[in-house]
Amino acid sequence: MRVLFVTSEAYPLVKTGGLGDVSYALPNALRQLGIDVRLLIPGYPEVLKQLSLIEVHENIRLYPLDEPIHLLAGIMPGEITPVYVIKCPSLYERDGGPYQDTEGKDWVDNALRFGILSKVAALFGHHQLLFKPQIVHCNDWQTGLVPALLTFHPNPNTRTVMSVHNMAYQGLFGSELIDEFGLPPESFSLSGLEYYGKVSFLKAGLSYSDWITTVSPNYAKDIQTPAYGCGLEGLLTQRQTHLTGILNGIDTKVWNPETDQHLSRHYTIKSLAAKARNTQALRSQFKLASSKQIPLIGIIARLIDQKGIDLVVPIIPDIIKAGAQLVILGSGDKNLELSLLQLAKHYPKQLSVTLGYDEKLAHQIEAGANMFLMPSRFEPCGLNQMYSMYYGTIPIVRRTGGLADTVVDASSEHIQNKTATGFVFENSDELFSCIQRALQIFRHKKIWQQLQITGMSRDFSWQKSARQYISLYHQL
Ligand code: ADP
Repeated sequence: MRVLFVTSEAYPLVKTGGLGDVSYALPNALRQLGIDVRLLIPGYPEVLKQLSLIEVHENIRLYPLDEPIHLLAGIMPGEITPVYVIKCPSLYERDGGPYQDTEGKDWVDNALRFGILSKVAALFGHHQLLFKPQIVHCNDWQTGLVPALLTFHPNPNTRTVMSVHNMAYQGLFGSELIDEFGLPPESFSLSGLEYYGKVSFLKAGLSYSDWITTVSPNYAKDIQTPAYGCGLEGLLTQRQTHLTGILNGIDTKVWNPETDQHLSRHYTIKSLAAKARNTQALRSQFKLASSKQIPLIGIIARLIDQKGIDLVVPIIPDIIKAGAQLVILGSGDKNLELSLLQLAKHYPKQLSVTLGYDEKLAHQIEAGANMFLMPSRFEPCGLNQMYSMYYGTIPIVRRTGGLADTVVDASSEHIQNKTATGFVFENSDELFSCIQRALQIFRHKKIWQQLQITGMSRDFSWQKSARQYISLYHQL
């Protein structure tokens, strides 16, 4: 089975969130199960720098680009997954992130940047390049034009899968794109890729793919409702017989307290006491008051509305008063960043705030924190709650999307039958009482340890999910 996995980010080359983790771990897991899966990714500077590349196709002309692109190939660092890289300096080689400039503004030519990514993927789908995939596996809006291109210029030997990692990002652009990308006028319609007078890359993927997946079973249901469907709930309900939720896994080679290269002390389920050394290290790194009785709550997130950090900010003084400390890592909304910095100044011994993206610190927080807070308004899957459970760090989450699929609330029944792994609340006004519940149970060492053990023993590996993708590929 040959699969082209098309993505706009992949750890460790370039990552802004969960899609980066998935684009590394899922192809690796698929390869281990015998699938010939290869990645296709734009040639951002950090991608070109980290891979040893050879040219496999030169001077490919793609309308509406003036310059030709080149297709390079390499192998994912430390792995065996082949990676195809699109070399096109004018589109991809610039300072800033994959989607935004250094000021945090979307690149003005994103339609062209990701339209070209989609066009190159479609060339593979048409079997015009050396590798001839049977499945083109697309991920998020950046790759949404692929299924449309392959529908209007079909190849009977290729099927498309569209995976939604987040419905909230749709890639909306002007209607002139239709012509530019060689799509017929009839595609610009309600049953095609039109969304209120614009071209929606995501809708193109959802309308024209052979199958839709999303990253947790619960989110597959959520997105068929107005509250989570971001205006596309009708289309998703129509296509529900071709929509599956497959839960993400975690890569236990990268995220594992027994081997994690970023930790000051490794630990396992049998040596949980050593976890405290990581807590100590975090406290001394950020000059927080040192005490074993005070639980440390971790947060790692993009500081955006979705993640509910604006709900945490006003209750930080209460959380501290209730006897906890917080370590926060993230970046995003400038107002939130400012409020957090001000609070950190006010509570230097109880709150540390690091703005920015820091892979190493993210691992250290997962290992050092006692609890991990994710009050997300919606969460397609969420990886940090799974990393947390695997690190014996108890998650406090809202019952939504993948969080609801993965965390079992510490109700008295679940504590008794030893299935509890965290604390779950429904509505925003229950957030603080849920944190209080966690702080109370933290004092009952035996119960706390049982929560840790149950979480650490869960199987979050990619094997199970990768098998589900494989049976979907075969079915198609
Ligand atoms: P999302 O994809 O919505 O951002 P996920 O929970 O699925 O949320 O995945 C987030 C991933 O990005 C995790 O691996 C998390 O550790 C990482 N991450 C998020 N923010 C930061 C940051 N500021 N520094 C380091 N890693 C981060």
